[in-house]
Amino acid sequence: MYDYLIVGAGLYGAVFAQEAKRAGKSVLVIDKRPHIAGNVYTEKVEGINVHKYGAHIFHTNNKKVWDYITRFATFNRFTNSPVANYHGELYSLPFNMYTFNRMWGVVTPEEAAAKIEEQRQAAGITEPSNLEEQAISLVGTDIYEKLIKGYTEKQWGRPCTELPAFIIKRLPVRLTFDNNYFNALYQGIPVGGYTKMVANLLDGIEVRLNEDYLEKKEQYDAMAEKVIYTGAIDAYFDYKLGTLEYRSVRFENETLDKPNFQGNAAVNYTDVETPWTRIIEHKWFEFGKDEEGNDLPITVISREYSSEWKPGDEPYYPVNDEKNGVLYGQYKELAEKEPKVIFGGRLGEYKYYDMDAVIASALDMCERELA
Ligand code: UDP
Repeated sequence: MYDYLIVGAGLYGAVFAQEAKRAGKSVLVIDKRPHIAGNVYTEKVEGINVHKYGAHIFHTNNKKVWDYITRFATFNRFTNSPVANYHGELYSLPFNMYTFNRMWGVVTPEEAAAKIEEQRQAAGITEPSNLEEQAISLVGTDIYEKLIKGYTEKQWGRPCTELPAFIIKRLPVRLTFDNNYFNALYQGIPVGGYTKMVANLLDGIEVRLNEDYLEKKEQYDAMAEKVIYTGAIDAYFDYKLGTLEYRSVRFENETLDKPNFQGNAAVNYTDVETPWTRIIEHKWFEFGKDEEGNDLPITVISREYSSEWKPGDEPYYPVNDEKNGVLYGQYKELAEKEPKVIFGGRLGEYKYYDMDAVIASALDMCERELA
């Protein structure tokens, strides 16, 4: 008998496991995949840490989270500054003076602000109620058309008019020459990869892989006082109220016999015609070097294709619109009636969490649960 059975060896589960062990509890972690680390999993390919489930760049303003996670990994100084490719025109992201200069030829912040204001007024939006209106009122119609619309509709598979405004607010808009994608005090990639960081969190903890909790639920439930469940909340209840919507992602990975494919870790393809949303060139997360600091002669790239999730696929992004919000609320009510089970993480809480927010949420839960 364990004190805690933790379902899912991703960030939420690993942080909870670490803290529970430290509090003297007995813990078993299971995961249905053949590896730990959930979607932050990285795998070494030809000396390069490949982000197998999409690019993850750790960033936070939360000092408590930063102090916590840096006990389990050393972070390099990587700063995310993706490039947008619109039919061969290259733009700086996030939206900043370099972007505005390339788009309109404006040189000063006043000129850029005036251009945005002019387009905002022409569109006549006062209270943005969806992603399209929010985007236009933040950066104007030209940037919306060239850098947002196609990318967003590919990523989410829905028109921008049907998506929640908050998604676009993830991106900063700056009247300075600052290409740092995140407004975060602390940022970087764990040296040696995320898998190593999660392995450190799980150090000394029993982990069983290839174990599907929902397939043998009763058997597993009998093994522990409490369950921390980090899988999809609707799957837990066998979709009995209907399925929540998720976006899934498919990756085409290629190893190329050349040292430099695109000169940047991330290039977003913001037109609607290119079928992939972005290409990641993994070596640039670590400045093109191997662990010994040598330049790598080859490179690994991943083309990212977005698709609607269907049962059997890996869920990546919850579609946090109104309809799904209502259904999630109903599942949450059911979840609250499960006395033995705590639901956590991106899938357990159906929330578009960043890594730092997942860690913060797991630490909060630990404080309540392990006190
Ligand atoms: N986005 C965009 N163009 C870009 C990059 C992002 O329009 O080149 C929008 C898009 O709607 C996306 C949102 O900004 O869903 C958030 O992007 P972010 O990079 O935060 O997404 P993630 O890295 O989580 O996939």
